[in-house]
Amino acid sequence: MALPDKINHNIGYLCTDWQVLLGHGDKPALIWISYGRDEKRISFKDLMFQSNRAANLFSKYRINVGDKMMILLPRIPELFTLFLGGLKVGINCCILFTSIGEDTLKERIDDSGTKCIITSKKYLYKIEKILSNLSKTPTVFIIDSSDSTSKFIGIQKEISEISPDFDTPNIDIGQPSHFHFTSGSTGRPKGVQHLHGAITNIADSFMEVFQPSPEDVYWCTADPGWVTGVSYGIIGPWVNGITQIQAEGNYNAEYWMNILEGNYVNILYSAPTVFRMLMQNNDSFYSRFNLMKLKRIYCVGEPLNPAIIDWGRKVLGKDIHDTWFQTETGSIMIANRPGIDIRPGSMGKPLSYINPSILDDNGHSVPPLQKGLLCLKKPWSSMFSEYMKNSKSYQEKFIGDYYITGDIAYTDKDGYFWFVGRNDDVINTAGHLVSPFEVESALLELTEVLDVGVVGVPDEVLYEKTIAFVVINDSIKDIRIADMKLKLHVSQKVSSIASPKEIVFTDIIPKTKSGKIMRRVLRSKYLNEDLGDLSTLEEY
Ligand code: ATP
Ligand code: MG
Repeated sequence: MALPDKINHNIGYLCTDWQVLLGHGDKPALIWISYGRDEKRISFKDLMFQSNRAANLFSKYRINVGDKMMILLPRIPELFTLFLGGLKVGINCCILFTSIGEDTLKERIDDSGTKCIITSKKYLYKIEKILSNLSKTPTVFIIDSSDSTSKFIGIQKEISEISPDFDTPNIDIGQPSHFHFTSGSTGRPKGVQHLHGAITNIADSFMEVFQPSPEDVYWCTADPGWVTGVSYGIIGPWVNGITQIQAEGNYNAEYWMNILEGNYVNILYSAPTVFRMLMQNNDSFYSRFNLMKLKRIYCVGEPLNPAIIDWGRKVLGKDIHDTWFQTETGSIMIANRPGIDIRPGSMGKPLSYINPSILDDNGHSVPPLQKGLLCLKKPWSSMFSEYMKNSKSYQEKFIGDYYITGDIAYTDKDGYFWFVGRNDDVINTAGHLVSPFEVESALLELTEVLDVGVVGVPDEVLYEKTIAFVVINDSIKDIRIADMKLKLHVSQKVSSIASPKEIVFTDIIPKTKSGKIMRRVLRSKYLNEDLGDLSTLEEY
């Protein structure tokens, strides 16, 4: 993105005031849809004034540059204006997912040294329960009350009366802007810090991948408690002056299809797990909806199984584009996008300014088709600046000039990147590396299979053996026949070595709140071990 030379690089400023200067003031920035499908439109000018009010309020209460702030609110307009207001002041902001448990909340407040928390009456109880046990007592703001007690300050009236003018101070690109916690797929979630300079990569990647026309309506379904929800559900669209949708309600096929159709969504960004859920409806369900306006669909968070791409083409009549990134990378690094033909099962190609490599354990580059560590040449502007309270882990993530992502992948001769698995999840069986993703993708091709998670567990003979946890539909009458059919299918589609040694039929596959399969939980369940940190496990 070509930012004028002397422009203020503050992310909050660039998403609001700058948009007004560019002439987008009256354009809707946010189309907010309530549970009941009521619609509220907030223009870029409104966004500027509301975030200015928030910035003035924080300044008044002496929450200053570099202080840490957490926001515990559902997806309501205030969440966005408070976040942007915090950024304008230079506060280091973190949005939490509202279903966070009290122990995790306490841990995150203590670990980060958070100075203030903003919430609403509905979620106050979570904070009240832990307040007296915190190492330092934070200031607690309540947005839907005007009363204050010794424990919290009600800001409803005050914020509506405070000045809507705020002169955003110039900020250094190295100033911390926001932090996130990882999804916790492989262990305890890590606190990941980002800087105001991240704006360049977030803005550029948004345009390179989503390629919106100025009047397009864009919808990112990710919760702002995760990196996708902030990089692409707040910053990416707004710094580019694009109108976006935010829906208060959680996933529900009918509700979502109504939004896609009724709000004329042009670009949708979601997660494979959502499409796996959508696929559980009969194809005829979708013929009721007119998706003429929908131009493109994108996905992130997990490998995109080819069966989902086939379904998207057949049932929705659309291509689904895969994108790959991490909390640590801050923005999309590899993607399928217009101009690059989709190869089902591949993540696509690196963005124009990103240089990934597949390296072996010694840091040497490996030839195409050979599996190895997916690494990224440092630095890039949205690269994380630290793991909170864990500088040793941060150092360990780098090898020479490269950041080690922890994922295993390979390239083909045309430069497409193919995801194999996370370093810890790739199965080493009988001397072969088996990708859990490949086995899961093969099993998902069978209509009987609703969901699946594949793991490797220790085995005396094979070193590791492949175990598939499978959720099947009601059409299966004989489990033994299903067992044989599933194993045979993987043998034919992938290889006999990859075929699961055992299939565990189950009701549910454990996922993180951001929709990723928690393979470590499946592994521990199978081995009857302690399940570890479950703070990000989705409760069904
Ligand atoms: P933790 O680091 O705590 O174990 P996490 O890695 O799941 O959690 P995130 O940063 O939210 O936390 O997720 C990034 C990871 O998600 C990537 O490293 C990769 O394993 C997976 N991922 C994201 N997008 C894709 C994709 N398109 N294809 C395959 N895997 C993906
Ligand atoms: Mg990770």
